[in-house]
Amino acid sequence: SRRDPFVIGDQLSFPLDMFSVPHHYKGDVKEIMIPHGLVIDRIQKLAKDIRHDYADTTIHLLCVLKGGSAYFQDLITALRRFHDHADHSYVPFTFDFIKVKSYKGVSSTGSVQITGGDLAALEGKNVLVVEDIIDTGLTMESLLPVLEARGANSVRVTSLLEKRTELSSGFRGHYVGFSIPDKFVVGYCLDFNEFFRDMDHICVISDRGIERFTE
Ligand code: 5GP
Repeated sequence: SRRDPFVIGDQLSFPLDMFSVPHHYKGDVKEIMIPHGLVIDRIQKLAKDIRHDYADTTIHLLCVLKGGSAYFQDLITALRRFHDHADHSYVPFTFDFIKVKSYKGVSSTGSVQITGGDLAALEGKNVLVVEDIIDTGLTMESLLPVLEARGANSVRVTSLLEKRTELSSGFRGHYVGFSIPDKFVVGYCLDFNEFFRDMDHICVISDRGIERFTE
């Protein structure tokens, strides 16, 4: 049931001097990987895909903090817009927020610590986890069985980004915005030591940025 994500090629980047980057991060990013407008445009289509598949079924969005919060906000804005058009199917939703910490051990089945959120409320719900990025996939691989064990009727994952990495566990989200090169990205609520969350574009951090924001 997965649809393919839009592929950001290894060589594609948007020049810094063609777009507006926050003054306080000048020099801290190397390139713009996905301009904010493109992020928003892609989310409109992800919302339509979700509407198509769930048509008139209430879903329970489970936003993974903090990184997933910008995507969550823009996704629910798009989903809410469907409510205005009674001639089309739409997707009523409830939501909750969780924090997830995964511990990647030697075995491929990592364990996961979930804080916040009412897990008991998942029983019978059609859960859609909202993530910022899937890298190795281990976080989602450990999280999903926990949610399923809480009696959810269905559990799917939407992630704005998915990295092309050899370290991938093979886990694939159901609704994925962009497949991206194996680079560390920041912006649009993705952080490096809590910085860069307040930048709209999704960017590749520069060496200077790493140095400046390393604790
Ligand atoms: P996974 O378990 O899939 O390897 O890791 C997923 C988590 O790692 C994400 O939710 C995110 O917090 C973090 N992460 C992975 N790659 C990046 C990246 O390029 N930038 C940022 N800011 N976080 C990342």
